[in-house]
Amino acid sequence: MRILLVQPPIEDYYDTSIRTYPLGLLYLARAIRDVADVSILDARTTRKPVRLEKHPFPELDEFYREDVYTPFSFFSRYSRFGMSANELHSELESANADMVCVAALCSAYEQQALEVARIAKEVDPNVITVMGGVHATLFPARLLSHPDVDYCVRGEGETPLFNLVSALSKNEGDIKTIGGLCSRLPSGLRISGVHSETNIDALPERRLLNADRYRINKKRYTFFLTSRGCPFRCGFCGKPPVPYRKRTLSSIEEELDDCQDIGIEAIDFEDDMLNLDKRTFAGILQLLVGRGLTLSAMNGIYPGNMDISTLRLMYESGFRRLNFSLVDIAETVISAHNRNPHSDFLGLLPFLEESGFLTEVHFIIGLPDQSPENLVDTLLFLMERRVLLGPSIFYHAPGSPIYEARFQDTNSIDPGQMRSSVMLPVNPLFGRPITYTFVKLVRFLNEIKRLADRNGGPSRLSDLLNPRSGWIDDERGQKIIEQLLRKKEFLRWDKKQNQMGQEPQDQALVRFFFQRAKGMKIKGYRTNAEILFDM
Ligand code: SF4
Repeated sequence: MRILLVQPPIEDYYDTSIRTYPLGLLYLARAIRDVADVSILDARTTRKPVRLEKHPFPELDEFYREDVYTPFSFFSRYSRFGMSANELHSELESANADMVCVAALCSAYEQQALEVARIAKEVDPNVITVMGGVHATLFPARLLSHPDVDYCVRGEGETPLFNLVSALSKNEGDIKTIGGLCSRLPSGLRISGVHSETNIDALPERRLLNADRYRINKKRYTFFLTSRGCPFRCGFCGKPPVPYRKRTLSSIEEELDDCQDIGIEAIDFEDDMLNLDKRTFAGILQLLVGRGLTLSAMNGIYPGNMDISTLRLMYESGFRRLNFSLVDIAETVISAHNRNPHSDFLGLLPFLEESGFLTEVHFIIGLPDQSPENLVDTLLFLMERRVLLGPSIFYHAPGSPIYEARFQDTNSIDPGQMRSSVMLPVNPLFGRPITYTFVKLVRFLNEIKRLADRNGGPSRLSDLLNPRSGWIDDERGQKIIEQLLRKKEFLRWDKKQNQMGQEPQDQALVRFFFQRAKGMKIKGYRTNAEILFDM
């Protein structure tokens, strides 16, 4: 049986191109390699984005414009990231597969996943189509209502797919009883429970991909998992409901050797809870020391189990950049969402500020129970620390406790809205202009932090008012900064009209932020140099 595993294209205002490594498909390939002829089509990575004239969000046009210039840029054009429908058609035709399995990870991109299934059926009406991933786990009935989808896998797919392939190709087993597999039966839909694997030590089939295509800062990179699942249940998190499990150190070592055999130079650990088990994590770090790999954990580090000796070992093993999630500085907000208190992270900060790490701290804009005042406190707190600010715009993550409390009826949802770029005002205190203004303030702060890090950089914000200082590269950028510092409003240069225009901001919020910040310090993110907020 010929099986094609597909990572579909996506359509959005942005794509995190350094986080598109299709690791889940490589695990599936490993599981079925002995019972099928398997290949992978990554239809998302390594295509230049193509701007789409038409898009489904006209309400965002006033915010995201590509005909403007600002030093605090944000999203601009709605694009397709990955293959066109024609390219997909010819790739599926030449693959001539008996089964096409589509990764439907993010609900927002449901249409592109369904498009792959539709084209597969156009190419060959007898092809078997299977959907897997988080979206398929959460909405199997919705996907099976499409005639182009034959099966859905809920949860981790290795064993369900192996059993399906075995049943179809060797007539072994009964499809109707395969755990994790959902199907259409004459009597109606069969919706299975969520499957999780017991043994997670098998190595993914990285050799099915061209390692040269996946790069972070020019280095060949890969995703890597040392564990699966997370024991916590944060209110906003849509992680699949599978238990926490960790791998054996020997299998991790074997996989690290395998990665280096194929020339991998950088690893991003994508565990939900990389350092939950302190002893195991120390063991993993020992395996990494001396390999010369560049390491990251973009999903974040859990501060609860972190201490300074572990951080030192992380540095020694090749971590240089650390991501932490603060959510919001107000304890009332984080406890409302079932998060641990901040004390662990705050305890690490003095060390981090003096260390060689670049620390990025993520927080959420527009979370239910949050107020703009809370969020200004968060910005001010991070402004004064040697960290980079990482904003995440809140959206309903399907499957999260917040989402489940709100949407009992899954027919009423529009998955296309479930993405950051839509800035959906789920919390009525965060209308789009407020959310957009927060993103602009964060861009402004990170830019000032970058200036603070420059050798002999400005010592106070008012230094930037002098156009001859040379801090701002360009005349229009200089005018935009001056207007912000003097009048507390964000401008942008309209390239069509050849003139300055206002950003769609909440000016009262900008003024409030400046009032609160006056007299405080803005610290760099690479150095402890400071700029006085004197405007
Ligand atoms: S946000 Fe992180 S810690 Fe919270 S439930 Fe999700 S994976 Fe676990």
